[in-house]
Amino acid sequence: MSSKTDDSKDIITVPSTGQRFRKGEFLGKGGFGRCYEFIDMKTDQKYAGKIVSKSMLVKAHHRSKMASEIAIHKTINHPNIVKFITNFENEKNVYIVLELCSKKSLYELQKRRRYLTEAEVRYFMSQAVSGCKHLHDLKIIHRDLKLANIFIDGDLNLKLGDFGLAAQIEHDGERKRTLCGTPNYIAPEILKKLGHSFGVDAWSLGCIMYTLLVGKPPFETETLHETYRRIKDNNFQVPSSISKNAGDLITKLLNSNPEKRPSMAEILNHAFFTSGYFPSKLPHSCLVAEPNFA
Ligand code: ADP
Repeated sequence: MSSKTDDSKDIITVPSTGQRFRKGEFLGKGGFGRCYEFIDMKTDQKYAGKIVSKSMLVKAHHRSKMASEIAIHKTINHPNIVKFITNFENEKNVYIVLELCSKKSLYELQKRRRYLTEAEVRYFMSQAVSGCKHLHDLKIIHRDLKLANIFIDGDLNLKLGDFGLAAQIEHDGERKRTLCGTPNYIAPEILKKLGHSFGVDAWSLGCIMYTLLVGKPPFETETLHETYRRIKDNNFQVPSSISKNAGDLITKLLNSNPEKRPSMAEILNHAFFTSGYFPSKLPHSCLVAEPNFA
């Protein structure tokens, strides 16, 4: 293969506009494609570019899922949601260009740190809940909030991403019956096939808050079967090391009745957020070690 061919493989041109991106560092592999830094060759601005081979999208339901992910994500503009920049395609691939989150996700952070301080969880959870509140205000349910879908930008701001399982609610009181995929922090009403709505995101946020504070998920067991049993039985324990306010909020989010879980606005007004030290910014050192707020 000639070097000319090798070089041109690393330059991606938007067919309709001629805008060019240089492919930079590999960021990660997803279910359908690969993600790289995309550098705008005019401005040098860095983005995250998702490349999905059309050969992965031969099944009609895969194509429609991808189209729905794009259609939903495109409409959203909020500081705590990964910004959608553009999408385009050529003969080979579908491309999605997103705001770059250079500090990866809460998944890598939790693996590195195991658990975070309550002040950090206050900081991170308030941003995740603010992003989710914006989605719910737009009548969008994310349906797959998990550590790996909550990205961290260079200033340690959180951004919700991956709208692959998101759903738009069309009318008040509507319940979704089907979900094409397996959410990580799956709510009991989904497992019990009772119909589900915005409450599933509150449930997932409860699981996320628990995991960040305790160092492991609330319903973790050896097998998926046993984990699903515990979710259906609402069988979890809040360790005594967790503060009263944090434990109270987790318990409210993990209510087995979705109607009784707090709304996003109610979560932000909970004592966990309105009392205790609330850092306005986090130091970069907290990506690797417990910060000293003193
Ligand atoms: P999935 O199939 O899990 O949705 P994606 O294709 O969305 O995966 O992403 C694949 C990987 O690329 C992720 O694990 C993540 O590490 C990285 N990634 C995705 N979006 C971004 C982003 N906006 N900024 C930085 N990295 C990202």
